[in-house]
Amino acid sequence: MSDWTQLITADDPIEAGFLRGLLESAGLEVQVRSMELWTAAVEIYYSEGARPSIWVHERDLERAKGILARREEAGDGEPWTCPDCDERLEGQFTTCWRCGHTRGTRG
Ligand SMILES: [Zn+2]
Repeated sequence: MSDWTQLITADDPIEAGFLRGLLESAGLEVQVRSMELWTAAVEIYYSEGARPSIWVHERDLERAKGILARREEAGDGEPWTCPDCDERLEGQFTTCWRCGHTRGTRG
């Protein structure tokens, strides 16, 4: 059965390795995939090289999100979710690339 689902996109292979270790240490099976599935994605044009994505089994998705959420609570520059379109954004971005919403504004 192929029931893999994408959890998150890492900033770079180092972060991908870190996230993989974090999830695997919690007992989850993890795949790290690189760009092959999204060669048409806009991100490629403003990212340097591959941004690996982290994949988990669908049944593990909620648990994996919980693990990442706890990690993000501890860090700075934490990712945020656009209130307009629910796009998941990295902490260094102040504007949603998808809809143009500016972080911290309402409405
Ligand atoms: Zn948005």
